[in-house]
Amino acid sequence: MMGKVTLVGAGPGDPGLLTLRGLEAMREADVVVFDRLVSGEILQLIPNSVRRVNVGKESGNHPVPQGEINRILLDEALAGNNVVRLKGGDPFLFGRGGEELELLARSGVAFEVVPGITSALAAPAYAGIPVTHRDYCNGVHVVTAHAGEGKAPQLDFATLARLGGTLVFLMGSTAIARLAAGLIDAGMSAETPAAVVEHGTRPNQRKTLAALSDFAKGGTFESPAILVVGAVCELSRDFDWFSALPLKGRRVAVTRSAELLGRLSAMLRRLGAEVVAIPCIETEYLTPELPDFAEYEWLAFTSPTGVRAFAKLLESSGRDVRAIAALRLAAVGAATARELYDSLRVRADYVPERFNSDSLADGLAALGASRILHVGAESGSPHFSTLPVYRTITLSVDAELGTLDCVCFTGASTVRGFADSYGDVTTLRAACIGASTAAEAELRGFRNIAIAADATLESLCDAVTTLLKE
Ligand code: SAH
Repeated sequence: MMGKVTLVGAGPGDPGLLTLRGLEAMREADVVVFDRLVSGEILQLIPNSVRRVNVGKESGNHPVPQGEINRILLDEALAGNNVVRLKGGDPFLFGRGGEELELLARSGVAFEVVPGITSALAAPAYAGIPVTHRDYCNGVHVVTAHAGEGKAPQLDFATLARLGGTLVFLMGSTAIARLAAGLIDAGMSAETPAAVVEHGTRPNQRKTLAALSDFAKGGTFESPAILVVGAVCELSRDFDWFSALPLKGRRVAVTRSAELLGRLSAMLRRLGAEVVAIPCIETEYLTPELPDFAEYEWLAFTSPTGVRAFAKLLESSGRDVRAIAALRLAAVGAATARELYDSLRVRADYVPERFNSDSLADGLAALGASRILHVGAESGSPHFSTLPVYRTITLSVDAELGTLDCVCFTGASTVRGFADSYGDVTTLRAACIGASTAAEAELRGFRNIAIAADATLESLCDAVTTLLKE
């Protein structure tokens, strides 16, 4: 059977700006054909089982010619594949989406178009520039200054200078000076406020605000970048929320197991950080014999992973949640309690006020609880006997880590995995959940360590922010 092509706009870079339909299409795909403007964070959302074809090697490294891309899409669909063509921003706004559909339409291949958030609007938004504002202008014009191979762009500067609305130029970053000079030569005031936004919506976004004449003098800018020209650029002085984020410009490493990286990474990213994912541990689920639950009164869970592993164990033992129907349940914290509900649809009977295992033990003792079985990691608990449902394996990291501002650790095992791979950590700052994690970090040579006030990811993020404020 013939496949289908879905043309998906990936947005400008921030994975939060990908549409739900775009994500769904990526997850249903057999193959994703992507180019250079699609951010690494978006590419990470493609399931591992999906084949990837990169048609946009770095410029200079000969990107695949357009005709050949069109051909790849056609051949893949004819071979019966569900093809996603992933493009930066919106596929139809200077994205050659139209060109890519021509051959498919002629060949009778089914296709769908999923619009994306264009960089022309998103980069200004992330720089606090409303592209229109009733007090400043009555329109916005999006112009490309990209030319065909080897040709200079033919822009009618006289008309552009007269339009009066905000101008947004999409172009190679080397064209900025020429565009600014062209507009001034055509009569636009040299004082007109303008802005360049490089790497828009990405952690390394950089905004430069200046008069048009300053840009005409030249400057070094990295691609991708847009040039915005018009009075609304002035509003960025008050509205640039993105530059003001507490972790803007910081590189923060997260070291949890790959399956748990998502939430912490997203939280740090919302604070402006560039997040480097270094999974230092992996969880292996264990399949011990189920105990006789009638011997116990309480089950104590000390991590969401423990809950998930226990749910799997019940399932693989051919049992279900009724096996523990007569027991009372304790959870070390809110996330563990939430996981009890998500995985097993049961509620925790007890959660201590402070989310740590000492408080859990003290709280249960205060309730007069006895016959308590801890359900958790093989390494056990200092307070209770343990049903081991998972084991943590330390992974060695071979990725190039570069310069980091801070590393987040949620357990001692991640510290060991990281320190073993990284070598000298004395210059790095560490943010830790739990005193034992921090102790391990100190043992491994970290000098600058912050401990989260609570054993929650929110609290860990606060610790990172405080640590990097100095
Ligand atoms: N279809 C895309 C644009 C493709 S043309 C869209 O809708 O965004 C390529 C140009 O888009 C680049 O040269 C640059 O000017 C702009 N661009 C794309 N992504 C960008 C980003 N994250 N930040 C700033 N400019 C970007």
